[in-house]
This record gives sequence, C-alpha cells and structure tokens, in this order.
Amino acid sequence: MENKELKTSLRTIAIGFLVLVALLICYGAFRANWRKDKEDPTPKYIFLFIGDGMGNSHVCAAESYLSWKAGKLGGEQLGFTKFPQLAMASTYSADHQVTCSSASATAFSSGHKTNNNFIGATPDSAATRPFTMDLHEKGYKVGIMSSVPINHATPAAFYAHQTNRWGYYPITEQLPASGYEFFAGPGFAEWRGRDGEQRPSGEFLAENGYTIAWGEEEFRANMDKDHLIFCQESNRDRSANEYTIDYDESWTSLADMLRLGLDYMGNEKPFVIMCEGGEIDWCAHENSVYPMVQAIIRFDDAIQVAYEFYEKHPDETLIVVTADHETGGLAIGYNFDWQFSVQDWDKVESRWIADGCTDKMSHEERMAFQNECGFGWTTNEHTGAPVPVYAVGKGAERFHGRIDNTDIPRLILGI
Ligand SMILES: [Zn+2]
Repeated sequence: MENKELKTSLRTIAIGFLVLVALLICYGAFRANWRKDKEDPTPKYIFLFIGDGMGNSHVCAAESYLSWKAGKLGGEQLGFTKFPQLAMASTYSADHQVTCSSASATAFSSGHKTNNNFIGATPDSAATRPFTMDLHEKGYKVGIMSSVPINHATPAAFYAHQTNRWGYYPITEQLPASGYEFFAGPGFAEWRGRDGEQRPSGEFLAENGYTIAWGEEEFRANMDKDHLIFCQESNRDRSANEYTIDYDESWTSLADMLRLGLDYMGNEKPFVIMCEGGEIDWCAHENSVYPMVQAIIRFDDAIQVAYEFYEKHPDETLIVVTADHETGGLAIGYNFDWQFSVQDWDKVESRWIADGCTDKMSHEERMAFQNECGFGWTTNEHTGAPVPVYAVGKGAERFHGRIDNTDIPRLILGI
C-alpha cells in the first residue's frame, strides 16, 4: 500500500513539474513576443538615397566602367549593389505610365500617386504628408540633400506642395514651414524668382530662421544654429545652375556634404536623411554615358559615407538606395553585333575627356559615337521601366520582390 501511495505522490509531483515547465515556456514565449511587439520597427537612423534617372542599365554601365578600370571584363561592383536586399519598384504616376521626377518623389515621400508635374500634392491638389514630417514630429532630425538645387523636384517633394514643379521660387518659399534641421545642395534655382525681380531667396529664408552657409568654412562656423542650409560657395547670392558636371576643387562633393550633415546632426537624436544624386538624370537626358557614369560613382561615394555610419550603428541604421525612374532607355551592347567589349571604355573615356563630347559634339554625332562604343539610348526622356531598390540594415528585409514606389515610406517605417 505504501508503494502505491508513493507512486501516486511521485506522479503528482511529476505532473506538477511538467505543468510548471509548460507555464514557464508559455510565459517566456509571451514575454519574447511582447518585447518584439514593443520594439519600434522604425530604424533610429534612416538614409534614403535617390539616384535620379538611375535604371538597371545605368548601374550596369557604371560597374562595367569600374571593371574596365580594374583591367577586368566584369565583377567590379558599386558599394550599394553589394547590399543584401534587392527589390524592383514600379514607377508609373497617377496620369502617365512614364512618371516625371516630381510625381515619383511625391510617391516615395508620401505614399501617394499623383500627376506628372505635381509635387507634394494629390491629383485633386490636396497637400500630401511626407513621412519625414511624421518622423520630425516624433523627434527625428531631418536632412534633405541633393547634388542639384535644393528646390528641384526630388528634394522639394519632402517639403513643398505645388501643382507645377517648375515654379522654383514658390517651392523655396515653402521650405521654412518644414522646420527640418538641415538642407544641402549647390544652391537654389531662381534665386530672385523666374523674372529675376523678386526678393533674394536668402532674405525670406533668414527671416524664417534658416541660416545659409556658403561653403564648408561658413558651415562649420554656424553648426550651433538650429536650422542650417549648406550651399556651394561659388553660388553665393545667385541662382544655382540646374546641374553641374564640371566639378572643380572649389566644390564640396555630395559625400562631403553628407559628412557635414552628419557632423551637424550628430547621433544623439534619431534622424532621417534623403540624399539625391540629381545629375545622373540630367546626363541621361543628354544621352551622355561617360558623365552619367561619373555621376553614379560620386553618388556611390556619398552612400559609402552612410555605410561607414551603418557599420558603427548596425542595429539601428537603415540605408535604402533607389531611383525615381529610368532615363534615356539605356541599353548596353548596341554595336550591331551585340557584343560589348571593355576596349570601348578606352575610347569613351579618352574621347570624352579629350574632345569634351558633351559640349562639342552634336546630338547625332554623340549618339553615333556611343553606338560604336556599345551604348544605345532609345529616348532623351524618361521611360516606364521599373527601378532597383537596394537596402541594408535594420528593416532592410522588408525590401524584397516586386514593390511599387508608393510602398517605400511604409517599408522604411515598418508600419
Ligand atoms: Zn527624375
């Protein structure tokens, strides 16, 4: 009888023990899930890079150039194409299969499709809300940068609301209302309005709390300001050209502008930076492959600055690199026998530098020369081709497969 009782007690203890273990497992799983739910899906540091007009062939051309430079047929990569995540984004606008920069920038700044030429506004002219504005309200610092003027379509879609993207001056007037901390670029197009008779843009920017620093030295001297705009020194108090490809020593590169921005914003507070490589598009509109490739390499240099930051804060940083659309319908291999050989870069580079192809050749001459070298352009406007999206860091796994440009803000925020 004693044995039986002992057995029953042991069984009771064993069952009790198993129930306890099961409860502990359930509690552990609950805690883990709870923590996961509690963890903010939005990265603390966000970089969104836009290569204006940069389609797959443009990236391929740049990597073929880098491979040629290394004495190889292929295999050299830009930094951002090594990112682990890759998606493809459709870019059509609300009223055209082929988007313009402003409609696409409105899509990835706010998640809304709009008409071509509209900027930060829906097709029925209501102001859109950029995701950078939501983050700003949550305490993020915001930086908006470009290698082309700060009032161009891509940067403007993050702070302006217009139904005509070409009204540069009204766009500049809307900049201060953003309250964003940092802007950078060569300067502003139409500094005194389209007719050149308006108040200088710097006046109303200053009245609304924005200091313009012309050049690096002035920027460093003003880093205690709450709202700071970097512009190239050579554009002081005048309109900036729509783009420049002839960089000289006096120009601060996009990579250096980003370094200044990171120094200025610091990493105590969370931040989001949108950084555009704008002249890629202008070169592609001109159907000029060599300067287009140089522009992508400069763009990649700027991305490298963000990547170095990511390496220091890998669990809190997201870098996304994409384009607003493809420009030029670029094809690689157009030399009649569909062969593309590395020798052709020899000819492209030497002739482009020696002859200044962009300025001295007619469009027809330039096209014929590039065809001989293995490049074909099908248009000097945009195309409807989808664009690649590269991502690394916290939340990067959300970028995969076929997406639309309106998905980008949601995927960045993780909501
Ligand atoms: Zn564009």
